[in-house]
Amino acid sequence: MSNIVIIGSGPAGVSAALYAARAGVQTTVLTKGPGALDRAELIQNYYGFAEPITGAELERRGIEGAKAVGVEFVTTEAVGLTYTDKLTVETLAGDFPADAVILATGASRAAPRIPGLAGLEGHGVSYCATCDAFFYRGRDVAVLGSGEYALHEVQALLPVAHSVTLLTGGAPLTAQFPPAVAVRTEAVEAILGEERVTGVQLKDGGTLEVSGVFVALGVAGSTALARKLGAEVNGSRIVVDDHMQTSLPGLYAAGDCTGGLLQVAKAVYEGAVAGTEAAKALRK
Ligand SMILES: Cc1cc2nc3c(=O)[nH]c(=O)nc-3n(C[C@H](O)[C@H](O)[C@H](O)COP(=O)(O)OP(=O)(O)OC[C@H]3O[C@@H](n4cnc5c(N)ncnc54)[C@H](O)[C@@H]3O)c2cc1C
Repeated sequence: MSNIVIIGSGPAGVSAALYAARAGVQTTVLTKGPGALDRAELIQNYYGFAEPITGAELERRGIEGAKAVGVEFVTTEAVGLTYTDKLTVETLAGDFPADAVILATGASRAAPRIPGLAGLEGHGVSYCATCDAFFYRGRDVAVLGSGEYALHEVQALLPVAHSVTLLTGGAPLTAQFPPAVAVRTEAVEAILGEERVTGVQLKDGGTLEVSGVFVALGVAGSTALARKLGAEVNGSRIVVDDHMQTSLPGLYAAGDCTGGLLQVAKAVYEGAVAGTEAAKALRK
């Protein structure tokens, strides 16, 4: 039986799940917990609520509704996305293969504004260690981040790179990193290099010479996951067509991660389209 895996249990992910499950497709939502909606004190502009409702309560009711139609929820953090013969979401709870994946992790807030970073993307700055580690065989590389997502990237790099330095930018470590990784806590001031990355400028005035910088800040958002498969992104937004499909067949995105109006109504609409279209495509 075909299956759909959705990353995120906000209004976009849950709406997608409702439509996919009701279309008869086995549907799993992977979530690390409450999203933006949980932080909204009162929602006063969503259809059907004459009395304002708290964001947390609206989110809870949405999840309850999806569970009632058979959607399975798994609490975990997605850290990778691969494609071999099938799409596979890599999480802290193991791998989840899927016939279609819907990205619904909300707005990306982890895009760092470090001078030099954007201009060197694809020239030493990478968002996918699994994809690009091979190019850094025997080289010195740095990973920006401090949590499980950064650990996932570090683990892909350690067997091939000459050295891996974790640059936390002052954030506390929230994962257990292997001793082979050097940890630097200074703020990152700039990524250095003209044509390609040559190093990283740190706040203490020191320079770390590396030929690759892998970005894995915070939690892997939809944009970072989409980039891993080479799906088109525009800044922090995932590019989608009218069916909410990304530039890759079988990979959809919905909600705040596609940009535009960052509101519940738009997230619910896009989720509905993504769930419907993903299910329809699997029936063909
Ligand atoms: C303070 C505040 C007030 C707001 N007020 C309003 C309002 O009055 N009206 C309105 O319409 N909108 C409001 N919004 C906006 C609204 O909350 C968002 O537009 C909406 O929640 C977006 O839905 P989403 O499903 O795209 O993302 P989110 O609701 O952010 O859900 C994202 C989901 O993805 C999960 N996730 C993220 N990364 C991972 C990962 N790596 N692995 C697994 N799971 C992951 C999160 O845990 C979460 O479940 C407000 C937002 C905020 C922050």
